Amino acid sequence: MIKPTYLDYNATVPILKEVKKSLIDCMNEGPINASSVHYYGRKGKEIIDVAKTNISNLINTNKNNLIFTSSATEAINLLFNNFKTIVTSSIEHLAVLSSSKSDHIFPVNQNGVVDLNYLETYLKKLTKNNKQTLVSVMWVNNETGVIQPIKDVVKLAKKYDCLVHCDAAQALGKIKINFEDTGLDFLTLSGHKIGAPTGIGALVANNKINLTPQIFGGGQEQGMRAGTENILGIKGFGEAAKLITSSKTNTSTKVKFLRDYFEKKIKNLSPETIIFGEKANRVANTLLLALPKIPGDLALMKLDLESFSVSSGSACSSGKISKSHVVSAMGYDNLALNSIRFSFPPNDAILHSESLITTKDLDRLAHCWSNL
Ligand code: PLP
Repeated sequence: MIKPTYLDYNATVPILKEVKKSLIDCMNEGPINASSVHYYGRKGKEIIDVAKTNISNLINTNKNNLIFTSSATEAINLLFNNFKTIVTSSIEHLAVLSSSKSDHIFPVNQNGVVDLNYLETYLKKLTKNNKQTLVSVMWVNNETGVIQPIKDVVKLAKKYDCLVHCDAAQALGKIKINFEDTGLDFLTLSGHKIGAPTGIGALVANNKINLTPQIFGGGQEQGMRAGTENILGIKGFGEAAKLITSSKTNTSTKVKFLRDYFEKKIKNLSPETIIFGEKANRVANTLLLALPKIPGDLALMKLDLESFSVSSGSACSSGKISKSHVVSAMGYDNLALNSIRFSFPPNDAILHSESLITTKDLDRLAHCWSNL
């Protein structure tokens, strides 16, 4: 059977072949529990240390600021449990919206960019102990690929003395992240979005701020996240980060070429297609589209039958398609069940490592789209 063409890299990136090799080497090293005091335990500590160095090099921070968790979702929950008030945007991932339980949700404009005036209105009202208020804005939206003005968000939050978190799960590997330069207090990351296995994430926390853990036990991860470390996940996350940092082609030029080629084809063949966030600053790999008359579940099924693995902008964990809260928040409530996301490899290094997407595939995909 011919493998379907995978264009769902924002859902997950296949484990990179360089990462797979490093994982097999790691398994061959022996039984590793980093808490053991013997040879194998020391190996484990070394693997964790190297991975932290690699990841911190990719995002420019001190490796001691990293706390490994099982996912970005867990990292977000760990952080949010430390705050009474969380101010966040309407287009955040459910990991943020569900765990913040916030009723301080500010809107975005039609291009899917957060509205800073609204954010300021909210912050002005919160005059009490703002050190216990967390502003949380994602760097890159997972459905539209729209890049948010993180530096401006930090500036505003600091003006009102709040702390700031950024969900960077979809930014890592797609755009340059400089944690120290942004002035952020917290950042959360997900390994499987850059070619590590699933089951590994990280909270990056400016170490001047005391946090309380949510999982207690053996004191791993500086007491912030107990439980024997996921050595294979950590190894894989570190190797994927190293691959991106050290790649000579640390760009997205080829990814952008493919995405833009496809977008242009769609515009020619199906001019009725809505392109979400078209006028905004978007990452190079993401394209969120809708046909006004075609429901997303039907489009997905038909594309699947044609051997294209893409995603509804709004699939939930049960695999069912629900209304996209992102598309609704952008003012297109009538299209919130119609959106389909095409996501290419996050960058050229991963494209080279993993993918065989050709313009011929994209020609066929654009034709399928126009015949839905
Ligand atoms: N935040 C964003 C923007 C995401 O896209 C995702 C995953 O899709 C997450 C958070 C959650 O990441 P994880 O799968 O590591 O829990």
